[in-house]
Amino acid sequence: MQRPDTKLPGVGTTIFTIMSRLAAETGAINLGQGFPDFQPPVRLCELVGAHLAAGHNQYAPMTGLPALCEAIAGMLLRRHGISIDAASEITITTGGTEALFAAIHAVVHPGDEVVMLDPAYDSYGPAAELAGARLRRVPLRMPEFSIDYERLGAAIGPRTRLLIVNTPHNPTGAVLTVDDWKRVAELLEPTGALVLSDEVHEGLVYDGKRHSSVLSNERLRGRCFAVFSFGKTYNATGWKVGYCVATPALSAEFRKVHQFLTFSVSTPMQHAIADFMREEPEFLDGLAPFYQSRRDRFATLLRGSRLALRPVAGTYFQLADYGAVSDEPDVEFCMRLIREHGVAAIPLSPFCAEPLQGRLVRFCFAKEDATLEQAAERLGNV
Ligand code: PMP
Repeated sequence: MQRPDTKLPGVGTTIFTIMSRLAAETGAINLGQGFPDFQPPVRLCELVGAHLAAGHNQYAPMTGLPALCEAIAGMLLRRHGISIDAASEITITTGGTEALFAAIHAVVHPGDEVVMLDPAYDSYGPAAELAGARLRRVPLRMPEFSIDYERLGAAIGPRTRLLIVNTPHNPTGAVLTVDDWKRVAELLEPTGALVLSDEVHEGLVYDGKRHSSVLSNERLRGRCFAVFSFGKTYNATGWKVGYCVATPALSAEFRKVHQFLTFSVSTPMQHAIADFMREEPEFLDGLAPFYQSRRDRFATLLRGSRLALRPVAGTYFQLADYGAVSDEPDVEFCMRLIREHGVAAIPLSPFCAEPLQGRLVRFCFAKEDATLEQAAERLGNV
């Protein structure tokens, strides 16, 4: 048998890179890739400088700086009422991406089934395939992108090792509720399956609602990994600091992978974030109102355009239906949007195994007023 020359035949350059590159080449406004054009808090940046100067430049402990793990445990208790043991249940990672990869590789054996809900963030599938998993992709139910429990139930079976969920959800902005977790727990109860819950947008839940974490569900608490990222909470996607929360037994397995994947995470960044979380715990509480006003501003600016905006319960992403404009496939529409109208968006089809009903693209509204205004003016002519 001929040896395959790639382990990931379905993987090319990510859609984020493709769209960002085209946006840069053409000078388009980039509302595609999900990063804010706001800076991290000034005090947090000062703290990074202070720790660099103070000589905190060598390896941090493998599982994370104890002060940072303590600060996270305090925050989870205060904000979400979740009680976590900092030393045995939190591992600091190189962003959410590493945490997702390490969790998958900690528990998935070749031939195991991994269930994902489409549209799904693009790293889940390749990470699971590299672990030798067979993917079962279940579409979320349109138009509100809720879980279709009948289809999910049908996909879960004795070979299911892991269910990957994401709330608040990228790219749709949907959020799961306490009730969703109850139903997920019921479905998984008779199986040995675990849950990997991607909660990197935890701070971005709007309209007075609260983030509902898998960690709050008593029946899932013993069989889940929850993944978070400071990239989103501190406007610092380039810092790549995140963390994974799981029971001591699951964290022990997680750490076996983490220690050979990256071993440890940037020391001055961890010190700075730990100090900042202690000094300004309320910063996180201001995040949702701040981004909610961006969401509302963008929606107001687009009123009167031919793009139909979907409701956004969380994240800093806005889905728009361009069905009134064109019936092109979404990738082509996004290419044309960049070339002819000077605005970059992200198509949804690369997040799905089955074609989506509807013509949907994703805009990132984590941008300054002037950027949103200019983008909306251009989108008004689409
Ligand atoms: N999961 C989701 C749903 C995301 O949107 C992102 C970042 N775009 C990540 C994981 C990765 O997080 P990080 O940038 O911290 O690696």
